[in-house]
Amino acid sequence: MDIKLFDRVLALGNLIGQAELAYIEANSDLQVLSWNAGAKNIFGYSEEDTMGRYLYELVPITRRELNSLDGTRFTTVEYTNSAGENIPCDLYYSPIMTTEGEKKGVAILCKDISSKIKDKQNLEEQQQYIHDIFGFAPFGIFHVNNHGRIVKANPEFAWMLGYETADLVTERIANFWSQMFFDPENSDEFKFGVFEADQLIRFRCRLKRRDNTFVWSLCYAKATWDSTGRRSGFNGFALDISETVKAEQALKKAHDKLQMLAVMDGLTSIPNRRRFDEYLESEWRRCFRDKKHLSVILADIDFFKLYNDTYGHQAGDDCLRQVAQAIQKSAGRASDLAARYGGEEFALILPDTHLEGAVKVAQTARTLVERLRITHESSRVSAHVSLSLGVACVIPQEGKTALELVAQADTALYNAKEEGRNRVKASD
Ligand code: GH3
Ligand code: MG
Ligand code: MG
Repeated sequence: MDIKLFDRVLALGNLIGQAELAYIEANSDLQVLSWNAGAKNIFGYSEEDTMGRYLYELVPITRRELNSLDGTRFTTVEYTNSAGENIPCDLYYSPIMTTEGEKKGVAILCKDISSKIKDKQNLEEQQQYIHDIFGFAPFGIFHVNNHGRIVKANPEFAWMLGYETADLVTERIANFWSQMFFDPENSDEFKFGVFEADQLIRFRCRLKRRDNTFVWSLCYAKATWDSTGRRSGFNGFALDISETVKAEQALKKAHDKLQMLAVMDGLTSIPNRRRFDEYLESEWRRCFRDKKHLSVILADIDFFKLYNDTYGHQAGDDCLRQVAQAIQKSAGRASDLAARYGGEEFALILPDTHLEGAVKVAQTARTLVERLRITHESSRVSAHVSLSLGVACVIPQEGKTALELVAQADTALYNAKEEGRNRVKASD
């Protein structure tokens, strides 16, 4: 059964209404005959306001244009509606013709496209925003695809690595990894983060530049997913922190130097009393745990006051330096420590060393100082500078202290002095 023309028009009218289109008809004198709800929405006039009024007073098409209309036209106009709002619309207008070709009026179909234009503007603004961030950000931005290839890099990232962007794009992942990671553990953690876990990874790394120099970087990486939910690679961000790292390294160096200076004796360049005390305490605890012998030697230059009196203080300082070196040489194990104990006194800590071994070290020290053959004509025991040494040894036990061990060595040293100097005495 044929669909009647009237039914068709009704269906079309419904569709136009649903699509929120303005549909307007005017007679051959250009007076409005039909003004639907869509037209009211767009142009702001109600049907009652518009009936019989001239079309060109209500819609943005001129009288002349409407009069001379001989076919369908299309225009996009920005129209100020009755509320003073600017409404961009797509507007189609066409003469209403009889089958005999007689022009009976004008029909207009119009659509409000403000939201479409707004969406487009928003999109353009966003694109501009992203474009500017990408182009001018003071940090590297890059994208690595699923095949591990850098497919996007901003100028800053290219610059960081010493490349032009175009060169970078051809970079293979194998090179990329080796450029980014020198520590395999770091690399594994990173790969897991960006390829397995959906989380932002933050890490420091040293990037190798094209000219083989390095740039320290704080990197962020985040896995990316395509519209079907499959992983598509990751986005990376890299901030050049070379200056910060350089400053940190300089600070650490200065700090280490200060730490070192704090435990070194300025005159003789061997560890000082503070270091001696610290080391004695820690070795005491270690030997206590391991039930090992711990030996201490105290050494004192004989008649050093007379040396100073004879040759002057400066010569005395010089002598102290030489003696310090000789004493340091006498103890060869990595765990041994020679220190300036104070004035013209020196001390040795010998962990895991029994008494006989320590006595040998003391004798070596005495001999090495003797071999320096530093003339000391005022000495009453030798023609040269000589040492007296006291040795003590103990297996640290509960209730005993390191200070007692030092006191024993001091007593032994006292005995060495008493028995004529230039000799080694062991504690009983
Ligand atoms: P003894 O054989 O009994 O040890 O006699 P001594 O003269 O060596 O002992 P004493 O303790 O009477 O004198 C130690 C001297 O060491 C006193 C001081 O002039 C000297 N002395 C201490 N520290 C320094 C120093 O840093 N530089 C110099 N040049 N001399 C020092
Ligand atoms: Mg002394
Ligand atoms: Mg002395």
